[in-house]
Amino acid sequence: MIKENLNLNDIVSKQFDKAAQHLGIHQGLLQQIKACNAVYFMQFPVKIGNRYEVFHAWRAEHSHHRKPVKGGIRFSEMVTQEEVMALAALMTYKCAVVDVPFGGAKGGINLNPKKYSEEELERITRRYTAELIQKEFIGPGTDVPAPDLGTGEREMAWIADTYDAFHPGGINNLACVTGKPVTQGGIHGRKEATGRGVFYGIREVLSHAEDLRRIGLSPGLEGKRVIVQGFGNVGYHSAKFLVEEGGCKIIGVSDISGGIYSLQGLDISKLVKHRAQRGTLLNFAGARNLSRPEQILELDCDILVPAALENQITLENAKRIRAKIVAEAANGPTTPRAEEILLKKGVLIIPDIYLNAGGVTVSYFEWGKNLSHMRYGRMQKRLEEIQTRNLLHSTEQLIQRNFSKKVMQQLAKGPDEIDIVNSGLEGTMIAAYRQIRETFNQSRRIEDLRTAAYAVAIKKIATTYMELGVFP
Ligand code: NAD
Repeated sequence: MIKENLNLNDIVSKQFDKAAQHLGIHQGLLQQIKACNAVYFMQFPVKIGNRYEVFHAWRAEHSHHRKPVKGGIRFSEMVTQEEVMALAALMTYKCAVVDVPFGGAKGGINLNPKKYSEEELERITRRYTAELIQKEFIGPGTDVPAPDLGTGEREMAWIADTYDAFHPGGINNLACVTGKPVTQGGIHGRKEATGRGVFYGIREVLSHAEDLRRIGLSPGLEGKRVIVQGFGNVGYHSAKFLVEEGGCKIIGVSDISGGIYSLQGLDISKLVKHRAQRGTLLNFAGARNLSRPEQILELDCDILVPAALENQITLENAKRIRAKIVAEAANGPTTPRAEEILLKKGVLIIPDIYLNAGGVTVSYFEWGKNLSHMRYGRMQKRLEEIQTRNLLHSTEQLIQRNFSKKVMQQLAKGPDEIDIVNSGLEGTMIAAYRQIRETFNQSRRIEDLRTAAYAVAIKKIATTYMELGVFP
């Protein structure tokens, strides 16, 4: 059997080259864009019980063409330097695709978070943050981490607090990290932003009937059969919005504990409760267990959403994938060899550097909120309510009929922070897809959406460098 190269760094590099060859950009500039600018490897001891454990951790800053750099922090036993560098590169391209003015970064600690108590995790996180501070690999204007696999709001709050303790009086300290709890300077809608962005992205792709004809799919999300691999932050929220706002049917879900499916569709909120009570997705009422969790990827469906890890669709299983669309919510879930097979089979792949960019988009909003020291909507909510109410009263006079109290309240409601965040995210995902689609349609040599998304990103980054005067 042919052995496949699963090194994510090599994979991202290949994807970059595939797009770059079509762009007519100077080789030196391409090399600069592609290279990882800085990697900080650290190891530090933390007292765990009555012994000291040494942890290996990294922070990679891929590109400083825009500052600060930005990217998640991952807690996983699979974290390596190569992986962190690859994920940092993906962040650079992702930010460019959705016009978020940051360079890319990524960090990680090689550990299994399930093995440690909350107190131990707090000590490890704070120690990691202290290391980043020492080397200036964190700061509101330099490098701004966020949650990723194995981390969430809790860890981001510890990071913010540690940074604040080292920088007394720093008025912008809260902007050193995003994905914080709302009560700690976070923003409404950040937790669910990546999943919400996945939903907006898929919805946008499915709104172009002419693109769907060749894969034999009708436009619109209503009734589409969806399978989600990974039921963490991104997988759960993607499923939730696809059902609640898109009218899709989730027929299969898996996580590290196993996979389940039901052709009738799974009730996502009941499934969350079931997992919280039992600690597993398995044995959910009305659903069947899969004997191997990875089988979930091979079931017949309209849209497959890998939302767990990289390298899930490979040379080994690509032939057996039966989905019409693979919507990459995770980073790097499809290997290049698998992609070739899927594309030949006519599968439409919505690439990670576009589809899961909702997280960094709303992180950008959170960063902006922290720097402005004011909640979005606070200044204009009441004013907009009054203006809309006046307009509605004038309309009532014109049509000589009054709106009901309920309708008046609904129409004249000024925007809250969550409304502004969600509309900003929705607009971003729609605009970014239209750019990718235009590039795809305009170039006969670009044959897939991933290459089109990379082309969009590389062109924007190249323009920034040229305008900076680095490359005459
Ligand atoms: P998470 O830790 O919240 O969830 C990961 C999920 O994957 C868990 O349900 C876990 O059980 C499951 N899983 C792990 N191994 C599995 C396997 N072999 N088979 C099936 N399921 C498995 O992480 P997350 O934040 O949801 O991140 C998921 C993916 O999305 C990652 O690739 C991450 O880089 C990417 N991503 C996350 C964000 C974000 O805002 N959190 C943003 C962009 C991209």
